[in-house]
Amino acid sequence: MKRAVFPGSFDPFTIGHFAIVQRGLALFDEIIIGVGVNSSKKSMFTPQERLDMICQAFVDEPRVVVKTYDCLTIDFAREEQAGFILRGLRTVADFEYERSIADANRALSGIETLTLFTEERYGYVSSSVIRDLYKYGKDIQTFLPPNVTLPKR
Ligand code: ADP
Repeated sequence: MKRAVFPGSFDPFTIGHFAIVQRGLALFDEIIIGVGVNSSKKSMFTPQERLDMICQAFVDEPRVVVKTYDCLTIDFAREEQAGFILRGLRTVADFEYERSIADANRALSGIETLTLFTEERYGYVSSSVIRDLYKYGKDIQTFLPPNVTLPKR
């Protein structure tokens, strides 16, 4: 069984994240979406809210499992018996960041990271843009996966 973890903050989970998982399902038998619970990082949505919104997005997809985790991503991947980490790439800035983490993770654990380039139409979609729009009461539904609604703030 080829299993990958897709780790992230997902604050909130966007249509860009959704598209990466959908494409990842063509490459892996199972994808475990790991909502990182990093207590030093201030988030808009609680871990449970983030987990719930991702579950809504994949309600009809049994090959996607959603969990929260509070440890190193490589330790989470090992616990889940996943041989791969899946990530998405938008920009050159993403590239530098992703490469250094991927190299460190491979050196420490042997776990390979597979990165997919975003589709052009999702290139500007980010959790931080959605948080800003949401804070000021703008409609953000087009940036969310189908079936997902955000909790009231
Ligand atoms: P992190 O805090 O770990 O960067 P994010 O929730 O911001 O977590 O993102 C998780 C992963 O999804 C990262 O690999 C990020 O580059 C990728 N990602 C974020 N937005 C998009 C997008 N619009 N298209 C493709 N990949 C994306």
